[in-house]
Amino acid sequence: MKVVIDKDKCYKSGECYYNHPELFKMDDEGFPQVLVDELNDATLVQHAEEAREVCPAVAISIVE
Ligand code: SF4
Repeated sequence: MKVVIDKDKCYKSGECYYNHPELFKMDDEGFPQVLVDELNDATLVQHAEEAREVCPAVAISIVE
């Protein structure tokens, strides 16, 4: 599974990279950059799900 950011929806609120720096970092434009290619353990999956639920723009997806 992977985390995908929809930049058309993201409005750079920052919750994802502030709360989950193991998964995201802020890029030069203020968008989150996904740091992990594959969610290959249960903890990462859980953190990605938390980020998705908290994102105010519904811009985070988890895909197969
Ligand atoms: S929490 Fe959502 S809106 Fe905020 S920076 Fe992350 S992806 Fe963008």
